[in-house]
Amino acid sequence: MPGFELIGAEERAAINSVFDSGGGILFRYGFDAARNNSFKVRAFEEAFAKRMGCAHALGVSSGSTALRVALAALAIQPGDEVITQAFTFVATAEAIVEAGGIPVIADIDETLNMCPRSLESLITPKTRAVIAVHMFGTPARLDGILEVTRKSKIPLIEDTAWGCGASLHGRHLGTIGDIGTFSFDYAKTITTGEGGMVVTNNPDLDFRARAFHDHGHENNPDLPRWEDSRHAGGFNYRMMELQGALGLAQLGKLDTILAAQRRNFQDLSARLADIRGVTLRAAPAGAAPSYDALVFSVASPEQALRCRKSLLEHGVGTKVLPEAITWHFAQTWTHIPQLMGRARGLGKGWLESSRKILASCVAVPLNLKPVEGFNERVYEGVRKALSQA
Ligand SMILES: *Cc1c(COP(=O)(O)O)cnc(C)c1O
Repeated sequence: MPGFELIGAEERAAINSVFDSGGGILFRYGFDAARNNSFKVRAFEEAFAKRMGCAHALGVSSGSTALRVALAALAIQPGDEVITQAFTFVATAEAIVEAGGIPVIADIDETLNMCPRSLESLITPKTRAVIAVHMFGTPARLDGILEVTRKSKIPLIEDTAWGCGASLHGRHLGTIGDIGTFSFDYAKTITTGEGGMVVTNNPDLDFRARAFHDHGHENNPDLPRWEDSRHAGGFNYRMMELQGALGLAQLGKLDTILAAQRRNFQDLSARLADIRGVTLRAAPAGAAPSYDALVFSVASPEQALRCRKSLLEHGVGTKVLPEAITWHFAQTWTHIPQLMGRARGLGKGWLESSRKILASCVAVPLNLKPVEGFNERVYEGVRKALSQA
C-alpha cells in the first residue's frame, strides 16, 4: 500500500525548505524576486517526467482533476462518448461527466481491467476517447486496447492512479497511451495529501493541458501574467508549492516502495499458492505491476464473502473487494444519470459479466511496514474459509 506509511523527516524537510530557502512562496508561478529560484511544482514535474521516461508532466490538484484536464486537452465536447471500465473508482466516470461527456462502460476480464473485446463492441461514431485503468497497479491489456483505439483513431488515456512506477514491456504505465494521469491522494503509491499528474509525449496535448489547468493561461514567458496570451478557457486545477515539495520527497522513495510491495506480494502469494481453490489475478504478458494489493479469485461469490469474513476474524481488513460492489463498480452508480442514460441503451444484463468476476475476488492490502504475522493470518484466514466449502 501507500507512501503515507513512509512520511517522515524527508517530507518535513521538504516542506520547511519552501519557507527556509524558497521565501515562503506557495504559488507555482511568478514572484521570481522573492523565491530564490525555488520552484517545487516545476521541479517535481521535471523529476517525475524523468523517472517515468516521458517528455512532459503537469502537476495538478488531484487524480480526478488530472482526468478532467486530460479530457480537456483532447477537446472532449458535450455529448461525446468516452469509454472506461466497469471496475474503477467512481472518479473516472465523474471526470467524463464533468467534461460534458457521456461515460460508456466496458466490461473487465480476468485481469480486472478493461476487456479489449468489450471495448471494441462499444465504439460508435460518437466515441472520442478511451480511459483504460490499471487497477491496483496491474497493467491493463494495453496491446489489445491500443489495437482497437488505433484502428478507430481514438486517443487513449491511461488512468494510472494506482500504477505509479509499474510498467508494461519495459515502459512505464501512463506513458504508453496518448495521455496518462496519476493520483497522489493519501491512499496512493506516493502521496502529496491531495494531488495528481498529467503526463504525455505530445507537446500539443501538454500545451493545452497546461493552459486549461490554469484558467487558459499560456504562461507566456514574454508577457507578464496579467497580459498573458490565451487560446481557450479553463479552470483552476493547479498544484501548489507545498504539494510539489512533498511530491519530490515521496518520489525519492518510490523505488523503495515498489521493492517492498513486490517483496510482500511474492511472500504472500507463495504462501497462498498452497491453498487449493485460490487463483491469483491474471496480468498481461510483459507486466511489471506495482503490487498495491494482492487479488485472488475463488470458486464463487459465497466463498469470497466467506474469505472476507474469515480474514476479518483474523484481523485482516480486505481492500475494496468483494465490497467493490459499491464505489468501485459502475453497475451500482445509479446516482449518475449521464451514465445510466447510455446504460439503458445497452440493455439487460449490463455489466453482469464484470459483476460475476468481481464478486468472486478478494483483495488483500499490501502494507509497506510489515505487520507482525500478517502473511500467516491471511493464510490461516483464507485456508479456514475455503476448507468449509
Ligand atoms: C484515486 C483514484 C482517482 C482519483 O484520484 P484523487 O486524487 O483521489 O482525486 C481516479 N481514478 C482511480 C482509478 C483512482 O483510484
